[in-house]
Amino acid sequence: MVFHIVTIFPKIFDSYFSESIVKRAQNKKLINIKIHDLRDHTTDKHKTVDDTPYGGGAGMLLKVEPIWSCVEAIKRKIATKNRKIRIILFSAKGKRYTQSDAKRLAKYKNIIMICGRYEGVDERVAKYLADEEISIGDYVLTGGEIPAMVVADSITRLIPGVLGNAESPKDESFSRVGYLEYPQYTKPAEFNKMKVPEVLMGGNHKKIEEWRSKKSKK
Ligand code: SAM
Repeated sequence: MVFHIVTIFPKIFDSYFSESIVKRAQNKKLINIKIHDLRDHTTDKHKTVDDTPYGGGAGMLLKVEPIWSCVEAIKRKIATKNRKIRIILFSAKGKRYTQSDAKRLAKYKNIIMICGRYEGVDERVAKYLADEEISIGDYVLTGGEIPAMVVADSITRLIPGVLGNAESPKDESFSRVGYLEYPQYTKPAEFNKMKVPEVLMGGNHKKIEEWRSKKSKK
């Protein structure tokens, strides 16, 4: 899986993608993350990526031409055999992202993610270039970079071989429809008079399974 991220702030990703499970997945060559600086796809000497909205209104919009040119350049570099590409535009007005979207998107070979900024992106990107518009929740962020990290992270952990057995996503929240993860505890058995539920301490695996299943459903 290759994640291509189109942004005007490429450095934002340095820290998050160079730690923990996502870093390990890159080292194991299970994923590849390519950050594309939108300014490299401008044609004027000021490397202009934004302009004022037609019809007036506050703020600036990311222009269609550099985004189009960047996405076309990415597509040209993708080998024919890996042409299973999905183009995502991040937008607060997009469809709300869920775990089932992560599962669906994990089947693509290349995901191109376009991060908006300022007041957003020229609508022609959503209408004619992107395959889908994704929102990560009903609130407004300053840019699409955090959504890109959210989507890349949630897909990465579904790719076979990324998580070890100990981190298996089998019993996780959303792994089955209608179930969330059951409550979990670790040592000590008692902390400031707060006790671990008795059933988990008894070693009766059947009872533990029943308790967990009940809690998951609840
Ligand atoms: N004017 C836009 C509106 O009212 O919906 C908000 C623009 S926001 C300040 C700038 C960019 O951040 C958006 O173009 C989008 O890429 C990203 N963004 C903000 N909130 C988001 C969300 N909840 N989900 C996904 N992307 C978001």
